[in-house]
Amino acid sequence: MTRADLHVHSTASDGTDPPAHVMRRAARAGLDVVALTDHDTVAGHEEAQASLPAGLILLPGMELSARLNDRSVHLLAYLFDPSHPGLAAELARIRDDRVIRARAMVDKLAALGVDVSWDQVAAIAGSAVVGRPHIARAMVAAGAIAEPSQAFTPDWIADGGRAYSGRYALEPTRAISLVRAAGGVTALAHPRSGGEYTVSDEEITGLAAAGLAGLEVNHPDHSETERAELSALAHRLDLVATGGSDDHGSLTGYRIGSEIAPEGGYEALIARAQRLLP
Ligand code: AMP
Ligand code: ZN
Ligand code: FE
Ligand code: FE
Repeated sequence: MTRADLHVHSTASDGTDPPAHVMRRAARAGLDVVALTDHDTVAGHEEAQASLPAGLILLPGMELSARLNDRSVHLLAYLFDPSHPGLAAELARIRDDRVIRARAMVDKLAALGVDVSWDQVAAIAGSAVVGRPHIARAMVAAGAIAEPSQAFTPDWIADGGRAYSGRYALEPTRAISLVRAAGGVTALAHPRSGGEYTVSDEEITGLAAAGLAGLEVNHPDHSETERAELSALAHRLDLVATGGSDDHGSLTGYRIGSEIAPEGGYEALIARAQRLLP
């Protein structure tokens, strides 16, 4: 079967490794296919494609920020044309607002006595689409916490936390339509990862009706029971069951290839995208 890890991050967003390193690790992990799915950007694709080891297929993707019923919904998008004007405009808006919002969180942290500055966070992020993990790393450098994951609590920058600030995100139905208009397909990311990212069966049913193509069944945050339930739900709603490691380099413990799409998932996603072609 095709070993396809359909959810991976790089330094184009909040992963710690450059796209070329991510591709090398993907090959070493024995993958046949890897999807580079950075948050709200395709900026890593060129480097990834240019450095692709022989025998490895790159599936161009992205993890799109959406918001439903006041909670974060992450949509994995694949095979879309990133230059589609409507989609490109929304991505630019999301990225611009990420900067405004990160600055707001830095201000709140400083007011709480944490010795972080925007310049420091910007230096950590470099050219990446800025996200909370970059702020978390600055908090570690400031000695406020021991590890980046400790930033994601109500005390700090978890959703609704003391120093949290919300940001612009798309209605998922609009995100799904935009990606479709751009020739691509979407899969709902980690619907059972808990906390701010949990999406109910009813909500998933609504997204399926709006044109969602896939459901991420295999994800490190999902238990065996949750995988079985999601797999059954995908079948019921005619969604492709997908999977991926959500590797963020050292932030998640290097885990590329630790999760792959169920058999036939990669091929089925491609087939759904091809169905959209005129
Ligand atoms: P943002 O896109 O800026 O809202 O940040 C969300 C990102 O933060 C996710 O994609 C993860 O990489 C990371 N993240 C979210 N929750 C946690 C958590 N509990 N522990 C560690 N990292 C997290
Ligand atoms: Zn992330
Ligand atoms: Fe996510
Ligand atoms: Fe992710």
